[in-house]
Amino acid sequence: MERTLHGIPASPGVAVGAAHLLLWEVPDVPHHIISDLEIPAELKRFADAIERSKARLRHVRDRVEAAVGKEEAAIFDVQYSILEDRSLVGRVEELIRQNLAAEKAFDIEMTEWRQRFARHTSAMMRERVSDLTDVHIRVLAILLHLPDHDPVDLPPGAKAVLVTHDLTPGLTVQLDRSAIVGIATDAGTRTSHVAILARSLGLPAVVGLRYATEQLRGHEQVILDGTKGLLVINPSEEDVRRYKERAKEEEIAEAELRGLAQMESVTTDGERVTLRANVDLPEEAEVAAKAGAEGVGLMRTEFLVVGRTMMPDEDEQYEAYKKVVEAFAGHPVVIRTYDVGGDKLPVGGHPTEANPYLGWRAIRMCLDEPELFKTQLRALLRASVHGDVRIMLPLIVSLSEVRAARKLLREAREELRARGMKLPDFIPLGVMIETPAAAVAADTLIEETSFFSIGTNDLVQYTLAVDRGNANLASRFTPLHPAVLRLIRGTVEAGAKGKLHVAVCGEMASHPLMAFALIGLGVRELSVNGRSVPLVKRVVRSVSAAKAREAALRACDARTPEDAEELLLTELRAAVGDVYWVREGLAAL
Ligand code: PEP
Ligand code: MG
Repeated sequence: MERTLHGIPASPGVAVGAAHLLLWEVPDVPHHIISDLEIPAELKRFADAIERSKARLRHVRDRVEAAVGKEEAAIFDVQYSILEDRSLVGRVEELIRQNLAAEKAFDIEMTEWRQRFARHTSAMMRERVSDLTDVHIRVLAILLHLPDHDPVDLPPGAKAVLVTHDLTPGLTVQLDRSAIVGIATDAGTRTSHVAILARSLGLPAVVGLRYATEQLRGHEQVILDGTKGLLVINPSEEDVRRYKERAKEEEIAEAELRGLAQMESVTTDGERVTLRANVDLPEEAEVAAKAGAEGVGLMRTEFLVVGRTMMPDEDEQYEAYKKVVEAFAGHPVVIRTYDVGGDKLPVGGHPTEANPYLGWRAIRMCLDEPELFKTQLRALLRASVHGDVRIMLPLIVSLSEVRAARKLLREAREELRARGMKLPDFIPLGVMIETPAAAVAADTLIEETSFFSIGTNDLVQYTLAVDRGNANLASRFTPLHPAVLRLIRGTVEAGAKGKLHVAVCGEMASHPLMAFALIGLGVRELSVNGRSVPLVKRVVRSVSAAKAREAALRACDARTPEDAEELLLTELRAAVGDVYWVREGLAAL
């Protein structure tokens, strides 16, 4: 019977395929006591499960190495070595000899190991928790005869729609794009990182479905509508036909918008609005350049580290940054230093923190780990030889952090000079305005900062106290809340006083209605999702900056986010007509 689940549109496009259910969670293990007589057979069952898990890991490792690369595959060597750990295996065997069934014995021991590692004082050790969890799941799945849910097991051309609770880094590196045509998750919102990654990979995705993994058994035919945020289970033939037709129409609409790539981004009253692209993976740079982006307004470097066991070294980072810089010859490329933590990477501390978004992440972690940070700064300085590189610091709340970062940048520069390298004399160092603290006190930053870039994803989260990754709160994540609009207005005013460029690089900039509001608030540089460049350009070319200003100022004085949205919508519709993409934005493309 046909059923439709409603979620949040995260990456546009339609995919029709078979659901591949990936239940990557530690299963419940029943308590089971065995008799003395059963002990030898149970020990053998455990040893066999370990051997099967190891064989499986070797297989996964080889596939990931061939498809993605050596470094990404190293995660599985770590997991393999956990299974070879004599103290772990010995302790489980001891528990089996005390009459516990193999799965319970393994479960108890692994739970203890995970807790111990999560509390470890060393960040490197805490990082291992996600590997331990993967091993925990893998062995239990074998002992409990659960289906093997590895995504890598899909043959190329399988056209599978991956349905899972959430996508972890370890799972992300295993995604085989020749087999997977779409992603559906129970958790997440438009701005959570699984959504951002799906858009980067160009895979249609719906997140925040809440119960998709419970509603599916696996292998059902599904239609994933990443544009509208729907997952249709067991669709009728008529539905499949309609969706296939729509997929074609969307392709045509996109092709039309691509025609705007070479046109100037200027409002009807002559104000230029620079459109740059957000780049998460170096491979996206070329696509964005073709779409007409005038450089990169945000490169999220943490995606270089996703799923890795170690941070990339200086040379590897340098190559990745250089690739992006060269794709945008002559245009600025803003590269953000590591923003790890929060919902991003399990690097250091994240698994143990009660409030990761308020925790040890981004600039805080980088300043506390100067060697890690300076490795990145050296790679950035080296890449700056090839073009207009600008460095951006995430999650700044105070000028002291900017000063501390600048000191490390000076040291990094000296280290490269000592190696005999020639570097440009100046490299702009800007900050993200993504906390209410930075927005309210933006004036304290202007003298020692080269530019501002407003990160509305976090700014909205912190201002409205709404977790950006929580599907239950998605409707409360309202960037057009007057409080957010006022913070943006204040930041633009502070920037103007200091003669600083103020850009917006959060998802808000990719949305037509919100881009209109931002233009009205005086923002003249938007960094948007690569695919949204033509759509936002169409908005820019259709509106007058003066009209946008009038509407945005009224929105700042609105009583509610709904009122603000309504009045902006009325103005934008007056300019572009009642076209469907105005309210829905990218999701309606
Ligand atoms: C933001 O917070 O708006 C932003 C652009 O950064 P990220 O989404 O990577 O946190
Ligand atoms: Mg952010």
